[in-house]
Amino acid sequence: MLKLADAVVIGAGIAGSSTALQLARQGFLTVLIDRQGFPRHKTCGEFMSPETKEMLEYLGVDLLSQEVTPSRMNKARIIMPHGGEIEAPFPGEALGISRYELDRLLHQKAVAAGVEIVTQTTVTGIHKLDSNQYEVEAKQGDQQIRYRARAVIGAYGTKKPRGVKVSGVNREDTVYVGVKSHYSGIAVPSQVELYFCDGGYVGVSPVEKGLANVAALLALNTIRGSGKSVADILSKASRTNAKLAARLNEGTPVPGTQVSVAPVHLSDVPEPWSEFPHVGDAMLMIPPLCGDGMSIALRSSLLCADSTGKYLKGEASFAEWQSEYSKNAECEFTQLLRRARRVQKLAFAKTNRLYPGIARIFPGLASYLVKATRLSETDILHK
Ligand SMILES: Cc1cc2nc3c(=O)[nH]c(=O)nc-3n(C[C@H](O)[C@H](O)[C@H](O)COP(=O)(O)OP(=O)(O)OC[C@H]3O[C@@H](n4cnc5c(N)ncnc54)[C@H](O)[C@@H]3O)c2cc1C
Repeated sequence: MLKLADAVVIGAGIAGSSTALQLARQGFLTVLIDRQGFPRHKTCGEFMSPETKEMLEYLGVDLLSQEVTPSRMNKARIIMPHGGEIEAPFPGEALGISRYELDRLLHQKAVAAGVEIVTQTTVTGIHKLDSNQYEVEAKQGDQQIRYRARAVIGAYGTKKPRGVKVSGVNREDTVYVGVKSHYSGIAVPSQVELYFCDGGYVGVSPVEKGLANVAALLALNTIRGSGKSVADILSKASRTNAKLAARLNEGTPVPGTQVSVAPVHLSDVPEPWSEFPHVGDAMLMIPPLCGDGMSIALRSSLLCADSTGKYLKGEASFAEWQSEYSKNAECEFTQLLRRARRVQKLAFAKTNRLYPGIARIFPGLASYLVKATRLSETDILHK
């Protein structure tokens, strides 16, 4: 089956659905493809920075006026393996809302704008044809579907689709595993709690309906032999942080909310383009500890939708489309990534495990964490 579109966006997470939404609002026939069914749980701390909230509002998603009320957070509490604690206030109010709910809201907006969302369909190939067209191959059950479009956007997250040529050389060698589960029975006040443990960290923060999000990023080599389930992995992490173990013991995992992602390779540099533009984690995987992945996903979607729109309208050539988006994305995210990597390195340095020595480093780190890794003051919304 062959289908035609102006733009095909691959991956219907936050980056893909917001890009598709903006392209449809510009009047383009836009198809958004995802291999999963929605709504779905996603490995994420579900901590939403003030910048993320602002960009969502710009896209017409006002989180505070929905049926589901997000939680609010105003400080970070960092808990070291040996029990030492540091607190750092946020410069603005952060929100907590599950990706199940957030991505559902974005899909609603995308459909209202005219996007065709095709779920449970896996993209297996993307080819650039001679005539400035792309062909996207996808598999839906037993059926093969081919799409022809002038623009393709890669929003497929951390794992590139099989058969897609992307260098992959710009990612770190260390292999991480990310896990997430919602818990009931853990009453988290208006804060995100970051527990450091052997090989990584575990965040505990409030989301909607009085639930807590428990999300971890751990080096694969430190969880070997722990068992494969999310519960096994969190239990292994708890062995090197007694306060985390006690916190998790207060609650019960909510069935059906456990998800994991592996292998995760953090980025060395942003990769905005291969044969087509990338947005979100497909462009840049920032350390979740301090970065703001959802904010980057939204920001890259704003940049990409703008450049892609010009190309589709015939106001820019293919070469101009590529160079404008690549230049803007590199300029926007390179410094941010560098700072976030520095923080991640500091947090993972062996000496940092030794409390109270760590206390001397962490007060600085705590405020660095919340300030240095926020996107720069230049506000894309007003560009
Ligand atoms: C442990 C952990 C904690 C995090 N915590 C936070 C946090 O608290 N706050 C924050 O802002 N960020 C956090 N992040 C980062 C954040 O989750 C990501 O940056 C964000 O989800 C990126 O969105 P995306 O749309 O690029 O990717 P995703 O949300 O991963 O969406 C990609 C989509 O592409 C689909 N897909 C993949 N391959 C194919 C294919 N071949 N065909 C069709 N569809 C495909 C997938 O099914 C998926 O739905 C965290 C990340 C991790 C790992």
